[in-house]
Amino acid sequence: MRITDDRYHRERLRMELALRFLRHEARTQTIRGWTGLSDDRIRKLYRSYLEDARDKLPRHRGKSPHQVAYFTRSVRLQEETLALATPLWMLGVLAATCAPEEPGSLAALARGALLCNAFEAYRMARPGGQITFEHAVFLVSTLSRGEQLRVGWCGCCEGLMVFEPFSLRVTRCPHCTGAARC
Ligand SMILES: [Zn+2]
Repeated sequence: MRITDDRYHRERLRMELALRFLRHEARTQTIRGWTGLSDDRIRKLYRSYLEDARDKLPRHRGKSPHQVAYFTRSVRLQEETLALATPLWMLGVLAATCAPEEPGSLAALARGALLCNAFEAYRMARPGGQITFEHAVFLVSTLSRGEQLRVGWCGCCEGLMVFEPFSLRVTRCPHCTGAARC
């Protein structure tokens, strides 16, 4: 009985997270990677619950984002990246370990729900935000790996910042670098 309850609970969490990802216009492969649901079940879920809203919630095909340079492309995107990285970091979405959780595991489902919370917080703070949910998922993996982009603290104002580890100006955030305050 207990095992059945646990299975039911996990199934419900998987479906809830998949619906939340679908509402954020995530791609099928992304939803599969976090929830462990099959492509067929994801399609059925969309048809059953969200197809009526397909004008507002289109399905996207093709590859997920994979270019880290997107996050540093302009001053606006750098600021938005920080606005998103802040709740990601605060809510503990950025993995402490490199190994991703097994798709559909309780750990992956919990982290996926926090990722949605962080993205929704970013969208509330930046209603006109350009960073899509798929880019947010990509930012999570990029910052968790920490090879091309990392979260750190400015040596001048001590604020959270996102920086390129190979950059020579890693000790100061863009505001402090520009203002030469320290
Ligand atoms: Zn600073």
